[in-house]
Amino acid sequence: MQHMQIYTDINESIRNASKIVIVSHRSPDGDSIGSSLGLFHFLKKIGKEVTVCHPDPAPDFLKWVEGVDQIRIHETERESVEQIVLDADLLICLDINSPGRVGKEMEPLLRSFQGHKVVIDHHIDPDHAYFDLVLSNTHVSSTSELVYEFIVGSGNKEILDAKIGTPIYLGTMTDTGSFRYPSVRPETHEILANLLRIGVIHYSVHERVFDTNTIDRLKLRGYALSEKLELIPARPIAYISMTAGELERFNYRKGDTEGLVNQALSVDGIMVAAFFAEKDGVVKISFRSKGDFYVNELASDHFEGGGHKYAAGGISYEGITNAIDKFRSLINQYFPQ
Ligand code: 5GP
Ligand code: MN
Repeated sequence: MQHMQIYTDINESIRNASKIVIVSHRSPDGDSIGSSLGLFHFLKKIGKEVTVCHPDPAPDFLKWVEGVDQIRIHETERESVEQIVLDADLLICLDINSPGRVGKEMEPLLRSFQGHKVVIDHHIDPDHAYFDLVLSNTHVSSTSELVYEFIVGSGNKEILDAKIGTPIYLGTMTDTGSFRYPSVRPETHEILANLLRIGVIHYSVHERVFDTNTIDRLKLRGYALSEKLELIPARPIAYISMTAGELERFNYRKGDTEGLVNQALSVDGIMVAAFFAEKDGVVKISFRSKGDFYVNELASDHFEGGGHKYAAGGISYEGITNAIDKFRSLINQYFPQ
């Protein structure tokens, strides 16, 4: 691996720090949990005092990862999390390009943090004004891979073990759609090979994430596909929406709708897919695309969001019907008949 000054610089700030906090984005996914816990176990193993502080809890399908129960949650234990962050001297932000990605509730805490700020991320446009050290690479498919490359690149390869490697495997797996997306590099597979060598039980990670359903979850997904998948006539666009009432009917748990948007995209001929879910009084939207249409622009220009070219997300405060109408009229302009 090529030597990079940024690895040395981050390694140096870790060595100099006495209390480290790791944060990541709101609505945790495999990569935010994976990169956070991979780095957490690494830092613990080299003797650092470190706490992972996330805005909100992990979805059920990620609760098995070793260390999840040690993640401190701002939403539910605000005061103690704020104390931990303000007492720290090094903040490492993962899988986010700006402090706003932790959500409106937690962002002021990051803004008031006075210590050293490091980011490791793979989204475009990292906020150089906020972060002191930036390890950013949009060509790498997951932040978990970047954490792996940092550990190896900073001369700590021998520290790696299955405890550190399992969450890294998880984040790489979920952010690449199980190693399928265009973002997968030869280096991705080299990392995976090495993770297996150090004892990561790859099939167990797949089983825990993909083959562990509740009956409610399966029925919700069946309902979404059979009753709620809409195709826009004569345009390569599909979407699924779920009202709060529908989610409740299937005893919705966080993570139950994960990946549904990809199934909408998988319909033959579909180039853009969206998923709308009414949660906590707002509408959370997921976008996916293929080919020449980039959904991150749609998300950032119109839905207060952002993300990657082919996978992005946003939010709407105008209700689910208005959010869908807005999406339909915008997307129809992009794909004129
Ligand atoms: P998902 O659809 O799985 O929730 O999110 C897909 C990707 O879109 C995430 O990996 C993240 O990069 C991005 N994303 C999702 N929601 C938001 C959001 O509210 N703001 C921004 N900036 N990016 C988002
Ligand atoms: Mn990611």
